[in-house]
Amino acid sequence: MDVEIIERDGNRIRFIVEGVSPAFINSLRRTIMAEVPTMAIDEVVIVENNSVLFDEILAHRLGLIPLTTPEGKYGFSEDCDCQGVGCPKCNVTFTLKKEAGEGIAVVYSGDFESSDPEVVPVSPDIVIIRLVPRQRIEIEVFAKMGTGKDHAKWQPVTVSAYKYCMEFDFDSEKCTLCEDCIEACPKQILKREGDEIVCIDPLACTLCDACAEACDFDAIKINENDTKFIFTVEGLGCIPPESIVRQAAQILIKKSQELEEQMKTMSA
Ligand SMILES: [Zn+2]
Repeated sequence: MDVEIIERDGNRIRFIVEGVSPAFINSLRRTIMAEVPTMAIDEVVIVENNSVLFDEILAHRLGLIPLTTPEGKYGFSEDCDCQGVGCPKCNVTFTLKKEAGEGIAVVYSGDFESSDPEVVPVSPDIVIIRLVPRQRIEIEVFAKMGTGKDHAKWQPVTVSAYKYCMEFDFDSEKCTLCEDCIEACPKQILKREGDEIVCIDPLACTLCDACAEACDFDAIKINENDTKFIFTVEGLGCIPPESIVRQAAQILIKKSQELEEQMKTMSA
């Protein structure tokens, strides 16, 4: 397997994986979305809320705030010594108290006080609610580890997707150099070089086949390479994107090892 990172920018990573099957790359995609754990607010105690938002809508909004998740620091509550009750080893507590004085007050995600400075909202600027004079909220919330298969709020990514790499097959004997294909390409990645049509940026190709359809002489063929993929991961900021991919790979390894061990005990 060959891996090459082609883009790394903030919470986004793009890389090429070569020498694997579509089934493998799809299991990586699904593991990233459904099984890489993050922290999210799961329990909300509302001490006071006389704002316009109902308690349950407020709780739902809070659950969707992405939280920074230090790797390996917290485990699942169900596996903890507290047996899922919730303790400082598996839970982080946030408190928030805000009241509108004479004017309008905006409650931001950054107004929360966290019991662990390593677990805080990814952005302090998420608007939770606006309060008008005499409105007040006081809440205490508990965040815990979870996975995307239980609720989307625990998903570490907004994008986990791959596409096949393309192979550009050009037949110079059939080509009349009419350049219709260059016109037809929506990504404008075809170019004439001498007596040949070349693809200047194969990674940008969306496999739409517009160039092949525009060619009346069957000189162009776009083939999918089903062993080479471009993978895009866009994180929410809870975990760095390369760490998300690494953790997903570890989860797949662990599952394979479990399968191997179960097989061993069965055959013994
Ligand atoms: Zn615990």
